[in-house]
Amino acid sequence: MKFRSGFLPKVPGRPSSGVCIMPVPERLVIELLRDGMAYSPAVSEGDAVPYGAPLAWANAKGGRVALPAPAAGKVTFEPGDARVASRIALQVTRSDIHPIRPPLAPARTSAESMRQALAEGGIWPLIWSSKTGGMPMLDGSETPSRVLVNFVLTEPFHARGKVVLGEHMRSVIAGLSYLPRLLAEYGIIHLVLTEPNDPVAQRIRRETAGQAWIQTEIIPMRYPVEDPRVMCRALRETDRRIKRDDIVWVLDVQTVQAIGACMNDGIPLSERIVAVGGPGAANPRHVRVRVGTTLDCFMESEDIGETKRVLRGGLFRGKPTDPSAAVGYGDDAFFVLPRPQKREFLSFMNPGFDRASFLPCFASRLTSAADRSLTTSLRGERRPCIACGLCEEVCPMGLLPQVLHRYLHRDAIDEAERVGLSLCVGCGLCSYVCPSKIELRHQFAMAQERLHVEHEEAQAAENARRSHEESFLREKEHGEDWRK
Ligand code: SF4
Ligand code: SF4
Repeated sequence: MKFRSGFLPKVPGRPSSGVCIMPVPERLVIELLRDGMAYSPAVSEGDAVPYGAPLAWANAKGGRVALPAPAAGKVTFEPGDARVASRIALQVTRSDIHPIRPPLAPARTSAESMRQALAEGGIWPLIWSSKTGGMPMLDGSETPSRVLVNFVLTEPFHARGKVVLGEHMRSVIAGLSYLPRLLAEYGIIHLVLTEPNDPVAQRIRRETAGQAWIQTEIIPMRYPVEDPRVMCRALRETDRRIKRDDIVWVLDVQTVQAIGACMNDGIPLSERIVAVGGPGAANPRHVRVRVGTTLDCFMESEDIGETKRVLRGGLFRGKPTDPSAAVGYGDDAFFVLPRPQKREFLSFMNPGFDRASFLPCFASRLTSAADRSLTTSLRGERRPCIACGLCEEVCPMGLLPQVLHRYLHRDAIDEAERVGLSLCVGCGLCSYVCPSKIELRHQFAMAQERLHVEHEEAQAAENARRSHEESFLREKEHGEDWRK
């Protein structure tokens, strides 16, 4: 697939490829907020819930989705944080994973029963649709003509496709066999890989040989190829037969594994493989954890100390989190950054054998070293834009971030919208490469949020105007009927 721009920084702390299986703790914590959607509890204080029973529900487009219990246990409610009022704590009574319903054979499964099983199993929100820009509609009103199954995760550091395959090859292959049930007629499943000759890629090809609806795509290993919008754009540029309004779904390898386990074995989403890495991680590795396990149960104690910052997610898009946070249904990465206690003196005069950069300004370019001194520090002050064009060079959506920045700096949001503000996928590469340390991604995200609110307000005003007009016309018609 064609993919221009992007960049893959050299970051130390890459997780090893073995997977440690963490024991299930006595207490699991389930947040009632997932992907920005608030869930309403389906259980009460003191209830004993079996494994896989719905703990909470949320209304989604065309149906509702559940948070299944990751273990059997007793429910208590705990106060939440600023985002959500409460969270469920489960005192675990039984930790085994077992089928909660009979398997559904691919040939005898309808699309409707599959959607239902994936919504109840907590898996549906992991699917991204080009129609909604998030979770697909549950009522069957959208059927994708293409499904992209992504094995490539370039942001430092998410659970690698190869690692997931090593653990769960059987479920991944099973998951692929169910996907055609959701596809439109003559739809195609694209398996996105980086290495055509890689042993794992070859095994996947062997296992799926003879399935005419499966195609393999090779994509370069540059961040942010895994972003669904970037991937759809790359696919459309490669295959000109795809029309603008064709629906494309994007799934990652853990989602396909979860689909296989749910449909083939009757097991709801209850475990995740997460990568714990980064320059601050004491022991970078992959761990298999039960959903709801708090960070302090599986991260090294030195990773969650005062001198470290833990990001939920990868280096570019991760959000700071604290040790009491728990692994969610969609988590696959925790990135640890050192937090320097004092400011570096004359850091710009350091030749930087240990400091990599997009610009060839540090000596690490000569040695190809990874950025061992990557920390939370800004290392200097913010400066104005120097029109170097580096942000434009890396932007995967072909935007001109420096131009967007200038428009937004003088509050010209309409002009920024005209030059593509809404296309920004928030990958953060422009902020990373900017030598002036301008927080471009943050600025664009704020402006997109503002535009979203303005559009919603304009839509509400338009709806009110229309309904007023309709009631006026009805009254007028009624008055005329009455006079007759
Ligand atoms: S403008 Fe948006 S899409 Fe482009 S590099 Fe910056 S954050 Fe990424
Ligand atoms: S990378 Fe920074 S300094 Fe360079 S053009 Fe972009 S915004 Fe300006």
